[in-house]
Amino acid sequence: MTMPMPAADAKASRRIGIDIGGTKIDAIVFDPADRIIFEKRLDTPKDYHEMVRAVAALVRDAGAGPVGVGAPGSGQPETGLWRNSPFVSSNGKPLQRDLEAAIGQPIRIENDANCFALSEAADGAGAGFGTVAFFTLGTGLGGGLVVDGKVIRGAHAEAAEFGHTSLPWMTAQDWPPVPCPCGKAGCAEMYVSGTGLEGDFRRVTGEDLRGPEIIARARAGDPKGIAAIQRLQARFARICAQMLNIVDPDIFVMGGGLSSLTELVEDLPPLVAPFTFSGTAVPKIARAKWGGNSGVRGAARLWG
Ligand SMILES: [Zn+2]
Repeated sequence: MTMPMPAADAKASRRIGIDIGGTKIDAIVFDPADRIIFEKRLDTPKDYHEMVRAVAALVRDAGAGPVGVGAPGSGQPETGLWRNSPFVSSNGKPLQRDLEAAIGQPIRIENDANCFALSEAADGAGAGFGTVAFFTLGTGLGGGLVVDGKVIRGAHAEAAEFGHTSLPWMTAQDWPPVPCPCGKAGCAEMYVSGTGLEGDFRRVTGEDLRGPEIIARARAGDPKGIAAIQRLQARFARICAQMLNIVDPDIFVMGGGLSSLTELVEDLPPLVAPFTFSGTAVPKIARAKWGGNSGVRGAARLWG
């Protein structure tokens, strides 16, 4: 099968972005001036092959143009087989090859958090900054790193997996390390994420509450809720400080459902400083400009 290659100067053309999420698949088309001229959303089919066909149908609706796709997980560099996706149906499958065969043209595919980071660095909260570290705080903790407009993927496509670094400077409150589905224990995601917040609340209080209920309690002045949010903040601050000590980004950008907890983001900078090597480095931290749309916007930018 011969595939027409997208134009070398894809930026000059309309560009298609697809974001394959757990429940929805989003598609947009950018015109050359980065205006959205097409938007469509479908439910994500559970079956892998149906999902691939649904993406191809969305691309047909979107019209001609280079296609960028964002999805959780990553392609193993040697084999291209997809891995580490929470949608297990994609794992072990040649996702890029299957999508290209169904769509009929080469695509670019990238981890969804990397797409978020690319979008926010291009024209979001990180615009104009050289090094942008992006955290997505949702059910889990994802991340992306963009330097001078380029996603840092790493030698093994494992860069910026902040969620599966060890929670730094553990205290008695963090101990013993919480087991993570990745097979290790003490991963940052097990403490700083929606899942982490709920697990912490359960361990400390014995009560089984969902994240939004814990947040509502904190806002209503309940001491247990407030203490849980403070633990979340303190842990997140240490994760940011560790990142600062390694890369020292020009700005941290926070996205995902938990970033709507404005105090989590706004109160963070002074909590980070004591854990930086100098003890005084106060980072710039901002909330994502494009919210949940950054994933699909970043996917459309994979071609420039
Ligand atoms: Zn882990």
